[in-house]
Amino acid sequence: MEYRRMKRSGFDVSVVGLGGEHLTNKSSQEVEAVVKTALESGINIFDLFMPQHQVRDYIGKALSGVRQQVYLQGHIGSTLEDGQYKRSRDPEKCRLAFEDFLTRYKTDYVDIGMLHYIDTAEDFKTVFEGDMLEYALKLKAQGTIRAIGVSSHEPFTALTAIESGYVDVLMFSVNPAYDLLPANTDVYDFFENHTYENGSLLGMDKDRAKLYAACEARGVGITVMKTLGAGQLLDEKSSPFGRAMTISQCIHYSLSQPGVCSALIGCTTPEQVLEAVKYTSASETEKDYSNVLSSSPKYAMTGRCMYCNHCLPCPSNIDIAAVTKYLYLAKAALEGNIPETVRSHYSLLKSTAQDCIQCGSCEPNCPFGVKIIDNMQEALQVFGR
Ligand code: SF4
Ligand code: SF4
Repeated sequence: MEYRRMKRSGFDVSVVGLGGEHLTNKSSQEVEAVVKTALESGINIFDLFMPQHQVRDYIGKALSGVRQQVYLQGHIGSTLEDGQYKRSRDPEKCRLAFEDFLTRYKTDYVDIGMLHYIDTAEDFKTVFEGDMLEYALKLKAQGTIRAIGVSSHEPFTALTAIESGYVDVLMFSVNPAYDLLPANTDVYDFFENHTYENGSLLGMDKDRAKLYAACEARGVGITVMKTLGAGQLLDEKSSPFGRAMTISQCIHYSLSQPGVCSALIGCTTPEQVLEAVKYTSASETEKDYSNVLSSSPKYAMTGRCMYCNHCLPCPSNIDIAAVTKYLYLAKAALEGNIPETVRSHYSLLKSTAQDCIQCGSCEPNCPFGVKIIDNMQEALQVFGR
């Protein structure tokens, strides 16, 4: 297993994490088998948004004895009403559901206290200017939560939350299908095929790219939900690319985006956990998602780097994907202020844009038609080397 550091919180999380959602209604034995396999596979981060008592009890039991070794994402605002999940902004209901979390998971702290499911500017205002943020800050001050998170599917709102300066971790839906969609797409439309049928879209939506860049620059770690596009990406009939992706390709896509630290996969059996963690031993060819995207009959993903490194080898040993990623991060920086982290990462590269001899051997190899030489010249201007 590989681990990535979430800079603001200092947590070292496994690149593949477990989403607990689908364990609701499973038996104690089934839950225990999934959690045990996840732990044995090196998974150390669990998203536990579910408010139902039974699943909390079962996972709590399965995690007993290893609490200190794992990071739990517990959600503030995920409550239970008449036995069913309900997103709530009622401070008392949120408090009760959160305290129930502590009791049932037999713990006195939560690593990431997620302000749950904020997708609109109005809701952001309710949460951040009302009792919920205040509650989260109080919990953090007393050590009951170690980091503040926000879960969202909507890039404008998520970016506003990140820029508030309060957020340490963002849980966001990252996959190549959603990344094509404009920021105002309704979350429920993500799952509809018709959403993807209105012609060629040109690569990643710029607002999503801006969000990921802002997270990277501010050290906000992203944990990914909907890594597999609710399973749609795994089937050629439902994949918007007209071709099925593998789990490893989906995970690799999300982990290739700036700021992303862990791709959470919802599993209901030990076999599914093992299938997901196969990513960690997959070859570069098995993880490579570029062919699916670039050969899609429906979309033209041209011009934007997808960090696949198909353009190598470079006679000057330039890591073209890395240079391009830092260039994008610098260009996305607010008011031209390039974050020090981006500058220092760039400075650690052995070969940089200044080493480009403009031989042009890379460009024909790029499946996305990226103008690599132009990017190298721009990176040289931006970083001075
Ligand atoms: S054009 Fe520049 S970046 Fe591309 S292969 Fe040649 S030296 Fe490397
Ligand atoms: S320039 Fe093209 S081939 Fe190279 S990493 Fe970017 S998308 Fe991949």
